[in-house]
Amino acid sequence: MKLTKSKINDLLTQPGCEHNHNKEGQGKNKSCTQTANPGSAQGGCAFDGASIALVPITDAAHLVHGPIGCSGNSWNSRGSLSSGPMTYKMGFTTDLSENDIIFGGEKKLYKAIAQLIKKYNPAAVFVYSTCVTALIGDDLDAVCKAATNKYETPIIPVHSPGFVGSKNLGNRLGGEALLDHVVGTKEPEYTTAYDINLIGEYNVAGEMWGVLPLFKKAGIRVLAKITGDARYEEVCSAHRAKLNVMICSKALINMASAMKERYNIPYIEESFYGVQDMNRCLRNIAQFFGDQVLIERVEEIIEEETAKLDIALAPYRERLKGKRMVLYTGGVKSWSIVSAAQDLGMEVVATSTKKSTEEDKGRIKKLLGKDGIMLEKGSPEELLRVVQKTKADLLVAGGRNQYTALKAKIPFLDINQERHHPYAGYIGLVEMARELSEAVYSPIWTQVRKPSPWEIWQQEHESLLNLEAEGE
Ligand code: SF4
Repeated sequence: MKLTKSKINDLLTQPGCEHNHNKEGQGKNKSCTQTANPGSAQGGCAFDGASIALVPITDAAHLVHGPIGCSGNSWNSRGSLSSGPMTYKMGFTTDLSENDIIFGGEKKLYKAIAQLIKKYNPAAVFVYSTCVTALIGDDLDAVCKAATNKYETPIIPVHSPGFVGSKNLGNRLGGEALLDHVVGTKEPEYTTAYDINLIGEYNVAGEMWGVLPLFKKAGIRVLAKITGDARYEEVCSAHRAKLNVMICSKALINMASAMKERYNIPYIEESFYGVQDMNRCLRNIAQFFGDQVLIERVEEIIEEETAKLDIALAPYRERLKGKRMVLYTGGVKSWSIVSAAQDLGMEVVATSTKKSTEEDKGRIKKLLGKDGIMLEKGSPEELLRVVQKTKADLLVAGGRNQYTALKAKIPFLDINQERHHPYAGYIGLVEMARELSEAVYSPIWTQVRKPSPWEIWQQEHESLLNLEAEGE
């Protein structure tokens, strides 16, 4: 893939992405064109986005062609878990020096690939370009091609220099690498009438494992997971699926659209968070296949699972009923977590519309009702102001807001990619309820909210101090 301006424009203006229509078709949403902000690496550059999308291919090696800082910034930033190979967890980089920047880094890259294959024998190697290697003009495609021919292992170039744009664009660039070099390169051993792909579910904290058994029970086969707990070969044969199920619409929408065009695979967008969404997801997949037996089987699973869930959630629903939550997260989670919290009897008083599409915003409005606050920006001051104004009981947000909440003595739950607990599927909702309950009812809050000894002393002696001051 050549990283031309028209290619980037094409990725930023995917027809299926609601962000395109924000300006009545006149232009792109500002967040689509946003470039990485120097010094704020956690926001993520395009390289970071591409590695987020591809690193969960667990039996592949992921080699970052650039200075060591790029690799250091992104390595292990997501807790995508593997049920088998651990090659994806190794941090490989060519670690370019000033000399390489002057004389070119292609030889060093070739040597790194050779060394990596000899030592680790991965199923494939993904090679990521970064700002520096794109600027000095290293020919990634040529090096990868030469190495593929020599070592008979797929070496896949990923054109993802950070300067081209945001993390979201990087996700799509990762998707482009899969479309160009991986999907359709191998036939599956067998196919079934109910083969689906999951797109955009990265198995953070192992949450996909709470959902896969449900599909299996229903008789729906997940042919390829793009790309949570994925194996290289399954992604190669993803073109034989009958349906693509997108879990985060924006991230890899280019893959879903291209697969529809190239392989005639339709796609739907679903969420695994909360009872309602999980039920809807299973029903929509069954409805897509239109098989009455499958539809009935799915209904039986839903009935069985929700009955079990009601028993498991009963104590938590009692504790969490009426508790007020301010939610600050992005994309699909802005509404899917609202739905999950409402399943637990909680009230979401505010949520963010950060990275949300127009469709997401419509769903948020419907879920929150007329009094709900939609947060465009989430600076620490703004979050604290909203928590105070709405008398919220806790803040549910990404890890970087943790200290904002804790310093203000507000219970906090991490909902983003750094979290260590799986919240997807029916089983995930029990985990989420437990975590929410522990956050709200932690005994620490009564301790830290008590006035300090010196504040008590001051209160007790206030009248005395006032008298003394008056006497002066
Ligand atoms: S690719 Fe560029 S923006 Fe991204 S971490 Fe490396 S130097 Fe920074």
